[in-house]
Amino acid sequence: MSTQKFQAVRGMNDILPDESDAWAFLEATLRRWLAQYGYREVRSPILEPTGLFVRSIGEVTDIVEKEMYTFVDSLNGESLTLRPEATASCVRLAVQHNLLYAGPQRLWYMGPMFRHERPQKGRYRQFHQCGAEALGFEGPDADAELILMTARLWDLLGLKEVSLEINSIGSLECRQQHRRRLVDYFERHAAMLDEDSKRRLHANPLRILDSKNPALADLIDGAPRLTDALDDASAAHFESLQALLKSAGLGYRINPRLVRGLDYYNATVFEWVTPLLGAQSTLCGGGRYDGLVEQLGGKPTPACGFAMGLERLLAVLQESGARPIPEQGPDVYVVHQGEAAQEAAFLAADALRAAGFAAVLHCGGGSFKSQLKRADASRAAHAVILGEDEVRAGQVSLKPLRGQGAQQTLSLEQAIQFLKT
Ligand code: AMP
Repeated sequence: MSTQKFQAVRGMNDILPDESDAWAFLEATLRRWLAQYGYREVRSPILEPTGLFVRSIGEVTDIVEKEMYTFVDSLNGESLTLRPEATASCVRLAVQHNLLYAGPQRLWYMGPMFRHERPQKGRYRQFHQCGAEALGFEGPDADAELILMTARLWDLLGLKEVSLEINSIGSLECRQQHRRRLVDYFERHAAMLDEDSKRRLHANPLRILDSKNPALADLIDGAPRLTDALDDASAAHFESLQALLKSAGLGYRINPRLVRGLDYYNATVFEWVTPLLGAQSTLCGGGRYDGLVEQLGGKPTPACGFAMGLERLLAVLQESGARPIPEQGPDVYVVHQGEAAQEAAFLAADALRAAGFAAVLHCGGGSFKSQLKRADASRAAHAVILGEDEVRAGQVSLKPLRGQGAQQTLSLEQAIQFLKT
């Protein structure tokens, strides 16, 4: 028989048992936090019609041009794409199921996203995002709430080394005027542009501003700024947002270069950045997308949202030594020796579970010493020991494996009572 060892797809990570506690902790924290603000969960398919992303994210963007996992379903010829982000899916879902007839909606999602990027620390081809979308809110109070709630999350997680950057990219009309100024400017410096930027010069010059090419940094720095030419409504919106952030005591920096890599944004855009992750410094990004619901077939509906990367969040939590992530071991590990003890151990483990405890039963024999080693490695808080003596006396020994406390021998009922207190 020939054998072959397979590897996970490059840039796509397995999450191993030693890592999954941290994931579960983060996910549970996120769920509690989102519920505190009245957000409700949605789960959409990981595959969507390709057109959904092309239309919403924009044809001339990094994601659509070169990062999407798109394929034709050979069974019916449909073009499908593994979702590279979930705002478009959320809006599609809200429009399809008429959620907005019932009024504005606060929605959240969590799950894997897929982008064919060059894998490196903090940048993967399958990664996880948690995002919130406030559909039907004009703001700027809604924008401020989203930003303040993310600040609250950093507090909950004990994260200090994060800072907020905000910008306004104005209305569609003012971006079109700005676009002409940008084309003028970049045309005057056409010789300095790279291939990507030359292609985007006429198709989508705003995208040149978020080029990752360091050789373009100075040129981009000198480009006309949208913030200097905002339409009145966007300028007023931006002012009010800043007033709200100030009154909440939240510090921020206006970054006029912040445009975000997706076409559906307008007015407010923001990012939370950290110095702890090297080049992949953005933890969370979001903004307003007032045109998207209508663009995807719904009634005109203002909206805003954000998405954060869970791999980056976990890396930052580790890196910053913020609040330690609690380890999740079972409550009890049951060890036993001898035939009679084995039977008693089965029953004891079951009784412990019926009483609400997580109880792992040792399987496969071995000396007490080696079984207790396993018990310790399981990170259980206590071991319940059943040997011949205990079985004869109708008792168990309860041994604390973490912290202080002496071993005691008592009835199983007494042990359960003890563990409950
Ligand atoms: P975006 O949808 O591009 O605005 O990204 C929102 C957040 O998702 C970023 O701030 C990152 O934390 C995370 N993210 C985006 N792309 C990747 C990736 N390729 N690998 C890991 N995290 C990512």
